[in-house]
Amino acid sequence: MRQKLFEPQYVLDIRHIAELKGIRQQGSCVEIGALTSLTTIEHSIFLQKRYPVLTEAAATVASPLLRNMGTIGGNICLDTRCLWYNQSLTWRKGCGFCIKKDGNLCHVAPGGTKCWAAFSGDTPPALLCLDAEIEIASAAGLRRMPLRDFYTNDGVAYRNLQPNELVTRVFLPESSADYRGIYRKLRVRGSIDYPLAGVAVVIKRSNGHITEARVAVTAVNPAPRLVKGASELLEGKVIDEALAEAVGDLAAKTAKPLTTSALTPEYRREMIRVFTKRAVLAAASNN
Ligand SMILES: Cc1cc2nc3c(=O)[nH]c(=O)nc-3n(C[C@H](O)[C@H](O)[C@H](O)COP(=O)(O)OP(=O)(O)OC[C@H]3O[C@@H](n4cnc5c(N)ncnc54)[C@H](O)[C@@H]3O)c2cc1C
Ligand code: SF4
Repeated sequence: MRQKLFEPQYVLDIRHIAELKGIRQQGSCVEIGALTSLTTIEHSIFLQKRYPVLTEAAATVASPLLRNMGTIGGNICLDTRCLWYNQSLTWRKGCGFCIKKDGNLCHVAPGGTKCWAAFSGDTPPALLCLDAEIEIASAAGLRRMPLRDFYTNDGVAYRNLQPNELVTRVFLPESSADYRGIYRKLRVRGSIDYPLAGVAVVIKRSNGHITEARVAVTAVNPAPRLVKGASELLEGKVIDEALAEAVGDLAAKTAKPLTTSALTPEYRREMIRVFTKRAVLAAASNN
């Protein structure tokens, strides 16, 4: 709001809606209220044990003070980011604005009509690996959708959420419990920064062979994305260097970083490859 990116007539403080806080087992799901703080998620012994990829990802968001205030709902709904967008009004005006706010051109991909601002939340890739669903409430009632359908991969209208709607709950299915989970992120300052590339990996093994696996990336597209083909490539195999490297190659293909963020797109894509390989090997060695 200080950068005049948002000038709302009213601001609602939703922090004290008690029903939307906490972590509960509900039938075949674990339900997390949208207003549950990232600190609560990070330190939940239950989640650490059963959904460790989520607690790992939550523990890397910003800094401890921001995690005390920041919620899982806010992290899911986080606006996309770009070096040409997260600037003051004077700065943006000096550059002629851009498609995401007040203008009609993109400085990152000139000639195009799409905004490529990067989705830079840490928990959504972990939630995608866990096949999470979200509940959305409005005066018209409740609707529930898989998190993978929430993001549009467009930097402007980046989420399927109407202005009169609120994300109220996150559901983790029982079938996604007990995966080995790893989250790795690239950032400039390890103590506080947004991801410039992030990868979540979950695997289940039986007799050393992978029975189920999912990989998702963040901060390298306008949406967090599951890596297509990674599950098929991993399932039924025993993890070794070559296989981990092949999954890294697939993840790097899913990543389409542009000059929206600090560090070059080439470096960020390469780090997706490297982090994915390391995360797959780490997930395998954790058992
Ligand atoms: C210095 C700094 C560093 C940061 N680093 C990181 C980082 O490393 N990783 C990261 O992921 N994030 C980072 N963040 C962003 C932020 O702190 C987290 O994403 C946090 O989880 C946001 O939660 P919040 O409750 O504060 O949401 P807000 O920032 O208040 O909201 C974010 C957006 O979501 C909307 N919103 C919030 N809750 C809901 C809901 N329940 N339903 C519908 N819409 C909702 C808001 O209107 C707003 O548009 C950083 C922020 C700062 C200031
Ligand atoms: S990607 Fe292009 S349109 Fe989107 S915020 Fe950046 S400069 Fe603006």
